[in-house]
Amino acid sequence: MNSPLQTYLLTQKDNLNTAMVAYVANLEQVAKVKPSIARDIVNELENQRSHLKLIASENYCSLATQAAMGNLLTDKYAEGYPEHRYYGGCVNVDSVEMTAAREAEKLFGADYAYVQPHSGADTNLVAYWAILSAKVETPTLEELGVKSLNDLTAEQFDALRVKFCNQKLMGLDYSCGGHLTHGYKMNVSARMFDSYPYGVDKETGLLDYDAIEKQAMEVKPLILLAGYSAYPRSINFRRFREIADKCGAVLMVDMAHFAGLVAGKVFTGDEDPVKWADIVTTTTHKTLRGPRGAMILCKEEFADYVNKGCPMVLGGPLPHVMAAKAIAFKEANTKDYQDYAHNVQANAKALASACQKRGMKLQTGGTDNHLMLIDIYSTYGLTGKQAEAAMFQCGVTLNANALPYDPMGAWWTSGIRVGTPAITSLGMNTTDMDEIADILDYVLKGTKAGLTKDGKPAKGKVIVDAIVQENAKKRVKAILSKYVLYPELDLDFLKKHFVK
Ligand code: PLP
Repeated sequence: MNSPLQTYLLTQKDNLNTAMVAYVANLEQVAKVKPSIARDIVNELENQRSHLKLIASENYCSLATQAAMGNLLTDKYAEGYPEHRYYGGCVNVDSVEMTAAREAEKLFGADYAYVQPHSGADTNLVAYWAILSAKVETPTLEELGVKSLNDLTAEQFDALRVKFCNQKLMGLDYSCGGHLTHGYKMNVSARMFDSYPYGVDKETGLLDYDAIEKQAMEVKPLILLAGYSAYPRSINFRRFREIADKCGAVLMVDMAHFAGLVAGKVFTGDEDPVKWADIVTTTTHKTLRGPRGAMILCKEEFADYVNKGCPMVLGGPLPHVMAAKAIAFKEANTKDYQDYAHNVQANAKALASACQKRGMKLQTGGTDNHLMLIDIYSTYGLTGKQAEAAMFQCGVTLNANALPYDPMGAWWTSGIRVGTPAITSLGMNTTDMDEIADILDYVLKGTKAGLTKDGKPAKGKVIVDAIVQENAKKRVKAILSKYVLYPELDLDFLKKHFVK
């Protein structure tokens, strides 16, 4: 009997679909060992093709990026950094890492790039410890007249540890759109640092730079941190720089969410963090559209410190993912990508105004970036969690998100976060945004809260009207049929051979 690959090749005539050949060949290898994993991969393709992805932190990376990840580079240990490794035989990993780093520096105009971090959470830890090393450890060693930590007595080392843990961090409050790693109590960042979060203005929902300055002058943090997971506006980093200089802080920016808008030259000048910050961290898989991972961009002053991400925080790097980062950075340094980034923003603005036209209340009254926060409770009487569940039943993925100072708290929430990076990667444009806003409004109007066992409204349960659900699904399907994810891949063939 022919294998799936042989069968596929037999169906091909003059026009060999090489992407599909590679996919089938890979899945065939996987299925030989564990068919259910090949099945799950194909089912995920079907899932992603059949849902409208409005999750602001997700995207679709290229098949080239995926191919760079799926290979033997994963087998290599390469602790250290290029040309300074704790393992032999790293010449090719050195080449991969240096290529990715130089591509990142070119793309963002950065002094130095460190491309090893595996995720946004650990890249922030690496950045924190690079700053602590530069600003606390080095001066302490100099004061004591020793060269290395190993020269300290046990008492001196203990005193240094106390010093590390008494430094102040000032980042955007989690409840106002900051990330967990920016000093939230449940995260190691608030246990490592003395955390003094700043908020957004209660009336406008906007960052109030004068209030941040006032707070920073009182707190005098070691690190002033800008960046967010859920804030729908651009940030003036020149202003943040002024504040950091005035209060003597290191300026760190976590641009995980909007890195693609920086790479794509949507955010330039005062809105470009790389120009103004000492250290910039980012994930590579959100608007930037690369593999799941992260990196640091920094001024020369911090390069030697971030290079010590391993052994400080990280173990061995993931060479296959660094290879994929190199591909994604190269792809992002093109006119096509710049057009994409501008379309992400144009689609977000169009979607925001289409939602407002239908009576939805948007946090800050709109968006400048790739995301918006919609106050669901005040418009539809539903929690964010209920809206998330109702939309999922109708083929739309998005997430519940707390609004600033949300009375419903961080779990149930009054709001949802909606983003355009993924749908723009599919090719959708501003004319499609009206239909998407209409589907959201149609479903949410046709949804009511489910009931608890004792008949009270349940915050997490929904009942979506059956006809609304059926119609909404049809409408989602109609849009997605115009913009097929990875059109090179023949889903029917893959299902027939790998989903049994
Ligand atoms: N930083 C910000 C601003 C984020 O939004 C996120 C994730 O959502 C992270 C860091 C963490 O990234 P990861 O999930 O890759 O650890």
